[in-house]
Amino acid sequence: MRNEGTNSLMRAALLYGPKDVRMEEVPVPESGPGEVLLQIKAALTCGTDAKVYLRGGHPRMIKPPAVFGHEFSGVVTKVGDGVDYFKEGMSVVAANSAPCNRCFYCKIGRQSLCENLLFINGAYAEYVKIPELIVRQNLLEIPEGVSFKEAALVEPLACALHGIEESGIKLSDTVVINGAGPIGLLFTQLANLQGARVIVADRREDRLSVARKCRADEIVNVSKISDPVKAVRELTEDGRGVDVAVEAVGIPEVWEAAIAMVRKGGSVILFGGCAPGTSIKLDTKAFHYGEVTLKGVFHHTPAYVKKALDLIACRAIDTRPLITQELPLSQLPRALEMIVNHEGMKTAIVL
Ligand SMILES: [Zn+2]
Ligand SMILES: [Zn+2]
Repeated sequence: MRNEGTNSLMRAALLYGPKDVRMEEVPVPESGPGEVLLQIKAALTCGTDAKVYLRGGHPRMIKPPAVFGHEFSGVVTKVGDGVDYFKEGMSVVAANSAPCNRCFYCKIGRQSLCENLLFINGAYAEYVKIPELIVRQNLLEIPEGVSFKEAALVEPLACALHGIEESGIKLSDTVVINGAGPIGLLFTQLANLQGARVIVADRREDRLSVARKCRADEIVNVSKISDPVKAVRELTEDGRGVDVAVEAVGIPEVWEAAIAMVRKGGSVILFGGCAPGTSIKLDTKAFHYGEVTLKGVFHHTPAYVKKALDLIACRAIDTRPLITQELPLSQLPRALEMIVNHEGMKTAIVL
Protein backbone atom coordinates (compact mmCIF):
# COMPACT_ATOMS: atom_id res chain seq x y z
CA MET A 1 0.00 0.00 0.00
CA ARG A 2 1.27 3.44 -0.89
CA ASN A 3 1.62 5.90 1.91
CA GLU A 4 0.22 9.37 1.20
CA GLY A 5 2.92 11.90 1.99
CA THR A 6 2.13 14.35 4.77
CA ASN A 7 2.59 17.17 2.23
CA SER A 8 -0.39 16.14 0.10
CA LEU A 9 -3.09 18.72 0.44
CA MET A 10 -6.70 18.81 -0.64
CA ARG A 11 -9.43 21.40 -0.89
CA ALA A 12 -12.05 21.12 1.84
CA ALA A 13 -14.88 23.16 3.32
CA LEU A 14 -14.29 23.79 7.01
CA LEU A 15 -16.98 24.82 9.42
CA TYR A 16 -15.64 27.39 11.90
CA GLY A 17 -18.87 28.47 13.57
CA PRO A 18 -22.46 29.50 12.84
CA LYS A 19 -22.73 30.30 9.10
CA ASP A 20 -18.93 30.40 8.91
CA VAL A 21 -17.70 28.01 6.21
CA ARG A 22 -14.24 28.53 4.72
CA MET A 23 -12.56 26.82 1.80
CA GLU A 24 -9.11 25.72 2.88
CA GLU A 25 -6.24 23.47 1.94
CA VAL A 26 -5.91 20.70 4.49
CA PRO A 27 -3.89 17.47 4.57
CA VAL A 28 -5.38 14.51 2.71
CA PRO A 29 -6.52 12.05 5.41
CA GLU A 30 -4.03 9.25 6.14
CA SER A 31 -5.58 5.83 5.66
CA GLY A 32 -4.29 2.67 7.29
CA PRO A 33 -5.00 -1.06 7.40
CA GLY A 34 -8.62 -1.98 6.71
CA GLU A 35 -9.39 1.54 5.53
CA VAL A 36 -10.15 3.03 2.12
CA LEU A 37 -9.37 6.50 0.84
CA LEU A 38 -12.09 7.87 -1.37
CA GLN A 39 -11.93 10.67 -3.87
CA ILE A 40 -15.31 12.37 -3.56
CA LYS A 41 -17.26 12.80 -6.80
CA ALA A 42 -20.62 13.92 -5.45
CA ALA A 43 -21.81 15.09 -2.03
CA LEU A 44 -25.45 15.96 -1.39
CA THR A 45 -26.64 18.68 0.94
CA CYS A 46 -29.03 17.59 3.67
CA GLY A 47 -31.26 19.20 6.30
CA THR A 48 -28.84 17.98 8.96
CA ASP A 49 -26.04 19.95 7.29
CA ALA A 50 -28.19 23.06 7.40
CA LYS A 51 -28.70 22.57 11.17
CA VAL A 52 -24.97 22.04 11.65
CA TYR A 53 -24.25 25.13 9.53
CA LEU A 54 -26.64 27.35 11.53
CA ARG A 55 -25.45 26.04 14.93
CA GLY A 56 -21.78 26.02 13.95
CA GLY A 57 -21.29 22.34 14.78
CA HIS A 58 -22.92 19.25 16.21
CA PRO A 59 -22.67 18.35 19.91
CA ARG A 60 -21.69 14.72 19.22
CA MET A 61 -20.13 14.69 15.79
CA ILE A 62 -18.74 18.00 14.57
CA LYS A 63 -16.50 20.18 16.72
CA PRO A 64 -15.29 23.25 14.77
CA PRO A 65 -13.13 23.84 12.89
CA ALA A 66 -14.14 20.65 11.14
CA VAL A 67 -14.97 19.11 7.80
CA PHE A 68 -18.58 17.98 7.41
CA GLY A 69 -21.09 16.54 4.91
CA HIS A 70 -22.25 12.93 5.07
CA GLU A 71 -24.05 11.91 1.84
CA PHE A 72 -21.41 11.11 -0.74
CA SER A 73 -20.00 8.81 -3.37
CA GLY A 74 -16.69 8.63 -5.15
CA VAL A 75 -13.79 6.60 -6.45
CA VAL A 76 -11.48 4.39 -4.38
CA THR A 77 -7.97 5.87 -4.58
CA LYS A 78 -6.16 3.90 -1.90
CA VAL A 79 -6.84 0.56 -0.28
CA GLY A 80 -5.42 -0.45 3.09
CA ASP A 81 -3.97 -3.85 3.95
CA GLY A 82 -6.65 -6.41 4.66
CA VAL A 83 -9.27 -4.82 2.42
CA ASP A 84 -10.15 -7.56 -0.03
CA TYR A 85 -13.07 -6.52 -2.22
CA PHE A 86 -12.41 -2.87 -3.02
CA LYS A 87 -9.82 -1.90 -5.61
CA GLU A 88 -8.35 1.39 -6.77
CA GLY A 89 -10.55 3.03 -9.39
CA MET A 90 -13.78 1.39 -8.20
CA SER A 91 -16.87 3.63 -7.95
CA VAL A 92 -18.42 3.32 -4.52
CA VAL A 93 -20.92 4.84 -2.14
CA ALA A 94 -20.71 4.71 1.64
CA ALA A 95 -23.30 5.25 4.33
CA ASN A 96 -22.38 7.79 6.98
CA SER A 97 -22.11 5.28 9.81
CA ALA A 98 -21.71 1.68 10.81
CA PRO A 99 -22.85 -0.24 13.88
CA CYS A 100 -20.38 -1.98 16.22
CA ASN A 101 -22.12 -5.39 16.15
CA ARG A 102 -20.91 -6.00 19.70
CA CYS A 103 -23.30 -4.03 21.91
CA PHE A 104 -26.62 -5.26 23.31
CA TYR A 105 -28.72 -3.58 20.59
CA CYS A 106 -26.60 -4.88 17.73
CA LYS A 107 -26.79 -8.37 19.20
CA ILE A 108 -30.59 -8.27 19.35
CA GLY A 109 -30.67 -7.13 15.71
CA ARG A 110 -31.44 -3.47 16.32
CA GLN A 111 -28.34 -1.94 14.73
CA SER A 112 -29.87 1.52 14.30
CA LEU A 113 -29.91 1.67 18.12
CA CYS A 114 -26.22 0.72 18.37
CA GLU A 115 -24.59 2.28 21.42
CA ASN A 116 -21.38 2.86 19.47
CA LEU A 117 -22.54 3.94 16.01
CA LEU A 118 -19.42 5.13 14.23
CA PHE A 119 -20.18 8.22 12.13
CA ILE A 120 -18.12 9.81 9.39
CA ASN A 121 -18.32 13.38 8.28
CA GLY A 122 -16.19 15.17 5.74
CA ALA A 123 -17.88 14.77 2.37
CA TYR A 124 -17.35 18.45 1.44
CA ALA A 125 -13.74 17.81 0.56
CA GLU A 126 -11.72 16.23 -2.22
CA TYR A 127 -10.99 13.09 -0.21
CA VAL A 128 -12.48 11.26 2.75
CA LYS A 129 -11.15 8.31 4.69
CA ILE A 130 -13.58 5.42 5.19
CA PRO A 131 -12.96 3.67 8.53
CA GLU A 132 -12.70 -0.11 8.66
CA LEU A 133 -16.09 -0.64 10.33
CA ILE A 134 -17.80 1.19 7.46
CA VAL A 135 -15.64 -0.45 4.78
CA ARG A 136 -16.74 -3.84 6.08
CA GLN A 137 -20.45 -3.07 6.41
CA ASN A 138 -21.59 0.03 4.59
CA LEU A 139 -19.31 0.62 1.60
CA LEU A 140 -20.93 -0.54 -1.64
CA GLU A 141 -19.84 -0.69 -5.26
CA ILE A 142 -22.03 1.52 -7.44
CA PRO A 143 -23.83 -0.59 -10.06
CA GLU A 144 -23.52 0.10 -13.78
CA GLY A 145 -25.68 2.98 -14.98
CA VAL A 146 -26.03 4.73 -11.61
CA SER A 147 -24.42 8.17 -11.44
CA PHE A 148 -22.40 9.40 -8.48
CA LYS A 149 -25.05 11.88 -7.44
CA GLU A 150 -27.83 9.30 -7.63
CA ALA A 151 -25.78 6.85 -5.57
CA ALA A 152 -25.18 9.51 -2.92
CA LEU A 153 -28.90 9.42 -2.17
CA VAL A 154 -28.43 6.00 -0.57
CA GLU A 155 -28.14 7.29 3.00
CA PRO A 156 -31.38 9.30 3.26
CA LEU A 157 -33.21 6.64 1.25
CA ALA A 158 -32.02 3.95 3.68
CA CYS A 159 -33.50 6.01 6.55
CA ALA A 160 -36.86 6.39 4.78
CA LEU A 161 -36.86 2.71 3.85
CA HIS A 162 -36.38 1.84 7.52
CA GLY A 163 -39.45 3.98 8.33
CA ILE A 164 -41.55 2.39 5.58
CA GLU A 165 -40.67 -1.15 6.64
CA GLU A 166 -41.63 -0.31 10.24
CA SER A 167 -44.95 1.20 9.10
CA GLY A 168 -46.52 -2.06 7.94
CA ILE A 169 -48.21 -0.34 4.96
CA LYS A 170 -50.46 -2.73 3.05
CA LEU A 171 -51.81 -2.62 -0.52
CA SER A 172 -54.59 -0.02 -0.90
CA ASP A 173 -53.87 1.64 2.46
CA THR A 174 -54.24 5.39 2.66
CA VAL A 175 -51.06 6.99 3.98
CA VAL A 176 -50.33 10.59 4.86
CA ILE A 177 -46.81 11.95 4.70
CA ASN A 178 -46.40 15.11 6.75
CA GLY A 179 -43.53 17.09 5.25
CA ALA A 180 -42.49 17.34 1.60
CA GLY A 181 -38.78 17.83 2.15
CA PRO A 182 -36.36 15.29 0.63
CA ILE A 183 -37.11 12.70 3.35
CA GLY A 184 -40.88 13.18 3.04
CA LEU A 185 -40.62 12.81 -0.73
CA LEU A 186 -38.63 9.59 -0.40
CA PHE A 187 -41.35 8.33 1.96
CA THR A 188 -43.92 9.39 -0.66
CA GLN A 189 -42.25 7.36 -3.40
CA LEU A 190 -41.77 4.35 -1.15
CA ALA A 191 -45.39 4.42 0.10
CA ASN A 192 -46.52 4.52 -3.52
CA LEU A 193 -44.32 1.50 -4.28
CA GLN A 194 -46.04 -0.30 -1.39
CA GLY A 195 -49.35 0.12 -3.19
CA ALA A 196 -50.74 2.87 -0.97
CA ARG A 197 -52.81 5.91 -1.84
CA VAL A 198 -50.56 8.73 -0.66
CA ILE A 199 -51.58 12.12 0.74
CA VAL A 200 -48.77 14.65 1.24
CA ALA A 201 -49.17 17.61 3.59
CA ASP A 202 -46.80 20.58 3.66
CA ARG A 203 -46.85 24.36 3.99
CA ARG A 204 -45.12 25.15 0.71
CA GLU A 205 -46.78 25.01 -2.69
CA ASP A 206 -43.46 24.50 -4.53
CA ARG A 207 -42.69 21.42 -2.45
CA LEU A 208 -46.20 20.06 -2.90
CA SER A 209 -45.83 20.31 -6.66
CA VAL A 210 -42.64 18.23 -6.36
CA ALA A 211 -44.66 15.77 -4.26
CA ARG A 212 -46.94 15.28 -7.27
CA LYS A 213 -43.88 14.30 -9.32
CA CYS A 214 -43.05 11.85 -6.52
CA ARG A 215 -46.39 10.12 -7.12
CA ALA A 216 -48.48 11.75 -4.39
CA ASP A 217 -52.18 11.11 -5.06
CA GLU A 218 -53.48 14.04 -3.01
CA ILE A 219 -51.79 17.12 -1.62
CA VAL A 220 -52.82 19.30 1.30
CA ASN A 221 -51.38 22.77 1.69
CA VAL A 222 -51.59 23.20 5.46
CA SER A 223 -50.77 26.92 5.24
CA LYS A 224 -54.09 27.53 3.49
CA ILE A 225 -56.38 25.75 5.95
CA SER A 226 -57.16 26.11 9.64
CA ASP A 227 -57.39 22.40 10.49
CA PRO A 228 -54.91 20.09 8.70
CA VAL A 229 -56.12 17.06 10.69
CA LYS A 230 -59.70 17.57 9.50
CA ALA A 231 -58.53 18.19 5.92
CA VAL A 232 -56.61 14.91 5.84
CA ARG A 233 -59.40 12.94 7.54
CA GLU A 234 -61.87 14.27 4.97
CA LEU A 235 -59.78 12.61 2.28
CA THR A 236 -60.44 9.19 3.85
CA GLU A 237 -63.58 7.07 3.65
CA ASP A 238 -66.19 8.26 6.19
CA GLY A 239 -63.51 10.59 7.57
CA ARG A 240 -62.19 7.75 9.71
CA GLY A 241 -58.53 8.70 9.30
CA VAL A 242 -55.55 7.28 7.47
CA ASP A 243 -54.16 3.80 7.96
CA VAL A 244 -50.62 5.09 8.40
CA ALA A 245 -49.35 8.59 9.17
CA VAL A 246 -45.71 9.60 8.78
CA GLU A 247 -44.14 12.63 10.46
CA ALA A 248 -41.12 13.83 8.48
CA VAL A 249 -40.82 17.40 9.75
CA GLY A 250 -39.62 17.30 13.35
CA ILE A 251 -41.98 19.86 14.91
CA PRO A 252 -44.10 18.94 17.98
CA GLU A 253 -47.32 20.37 16.47
CA VAL A 254 -46.83 18.16 13.43
CA TRP A 255 -46.16 15.11 15.63
CA GLU A 256 -49.47 15.79 17.38
CA ALA A 257 -51.29 16.37 14.07
CA ALA A 258 -49.87 13.16 12.56
CA ILE A 259 -51.11 11.15 15.55
CA ALA A 260 -54.57 12.73 15.22
CA MET A 261 -54.76 11.90 11.49
CA VAL A 262 -54.64 8.13 11.95
CA ARG A 263 -57.71 5.85 12.18
CA LYS A 264 -58.39 3.42 15.02
CA GLY A 265 -55.87 0.61 14.83
CA GLY A 266 -53.58 2.67 12.61
CA SER A 267 -49.85 3.33 12.91
CA VAL A 268 -47.84 6.51 13.19
CA ILE A 269 -44.20 6.68 12.17
CA LEU A 270 -42.46 9.49 14.03
CA PHE A 271 -39.38 10.13 11.93
CA GLY A 272 -38.64 13.87 12.16
CA GLY A 273 -36.30 14.67 15.06
CA CYS A 274 -37.49 17.54 17.29
CA ALA A 275 -35.16 19.77 19.32
CA PRO A 276 -33.83 18.09 22.49
CA GLY A 277 -36.22 18.48 25.44
CA THR A 278 -39.35 18.65 23.26
CA SER A 279 -42.57 17.08 24.61
CA ILE A 280 -45.91 16.50 22.91
CA LYS A 281 -49.51 16.22 24.14
CA LEU A 282 -51.14 12.85 23.68
CA ASP A 283 -54.89 12.20 23.84
CA THR A 284 -54.71 9.03 25.95
CA LYS A 285 -58.33 8.08 25.23
CA ALA A 286 -57.88 8.14 21.46
CA PHE A 287 -54.56 6.34 21.80
CA HIS A 288 -55.76 3.64 24.20
CA TYR A 289 -59.28 2.89 22.94
CA GLY A 290 -58.16 3.45 19.36
CA GLU A 291 -55.34 0.90 19.71
CA VAL A 292 -53.01 3.23 17.87
CA THR A 293 -49.39 2.25 17.32
CA LEU A 294 -46.79 5.00 17.70
CA LYS A 295 -43.31 4.17 16.44
CA GLY A 296 -40.19 6.26 16.62
CA VAL A 297 -37.83 5.49 13.73
CA PHE A 298 -34.23 6.59 13.54
CA HIS A 299 -31.39 6.12 11.06
CA HIS A 300 -30.68 2.93 9.13
CA THR A 301 -28.93 -0.42 9.23
CA PRO A 302 -26.56 -2.04 6.69
CA ALA A 303 -29.49 -4.07 5.30
CA TYR A 304 -31.46 -0.90 4.49
CA VAL A 305 -28.38 0.74 2.95
CA LYS A 306 -27.97 -2.22 0.60
CA LYS A 307 -31.67 -2.26 -0.31
CA ALA A 308 -31.63 1.50 -0.89
CA LEU A 309 -28.88 1.18 -3.49
CA ASP A 310 -30.79 -1.65 -5.17
CA LEU A 311 -33.91 0.53 -5.38
CA ILE A 312 -31.93 3.35 -6.98
CA ALA A 313 -30.25 0.96 -9.41
CA CYS A 314 -33.52 -0.57 -10.60
CA ARG A 315 -35.05 2.91 -11.03
CA ALA A 316 -37.83 2.20 -8.53
CA ILE A 317 -36.91 5.53 -6.96
CA ASP A 318 -36.87 8.64 -9.11
CA THR A 319 -33.95 10.71 -7.87
CA ARG A 320 -34.53 13.62 -10.27
CA PRO A 321 -37.11 15.59 -8.26
CA LEU A 322 -34.88 15.34 -5.17
CA ILE A 323 -31.57 16.61 -6.50
CA THR A 324 -32.49 20.00 -7.90
CA GLN A 325 -29.10 21.52 -8.69
CA GLU A 326 -25.37 20.95 -9.03
CA LEU A 327 -22.69 23.29 -7.72
CA PRO A 328 -18.90 23.13 -7.30
CA LEU A 329 -17.40 22.77 -3.80
CA SER A 330 -16.51 26.49 -3.71
CA GLN A 331 -20.25 27.27 -3.84
CA LEU A 332 -21.12 25.16 -0.77
CA PRO A 333 -22.10 28.18 1.39
CA ARG A 334 -24.63 29.14 -1.29
CA ALA A 335 -26.01 25.59 -1.36
CA LEU A 336 -26.38 25.62 2.45
CA GLU A 337 -28.15 28.98 2.38
CA MET A 338 -30.57 27.51 -0.16
CA ILE A 339 -31.51 24.73 2.27
CA VAL A 340 -31.91 27.21 5.11
CA ASN A 341 -34.24 29.26 2.86
CA HIS A 342 -36.09 26.13 1.60
CA GLU A 343 -35.06 26.84 -2.01
CA GLY A 344 -35.09 23.68 -4.10
CA MET A 345 -34.42 20.25 -2.62
CA LYS A 346 -30.93 18.83 -2.45
CA THR A 347 -27.87 20.26 -4.14
CA ALA A 348 -25.24 17.92 -5.52
CA ILE A 349 -21.79 19.33 -4.81
CA VAL A 350 -19.79 17.89 -7.68
CA LEU A 351 -16.03 17.46 -7.64
ZN1 LIG B 1 -28.47 13.40 5.55
ZN1 LIG C 1 -23.61 -1.79 18.53
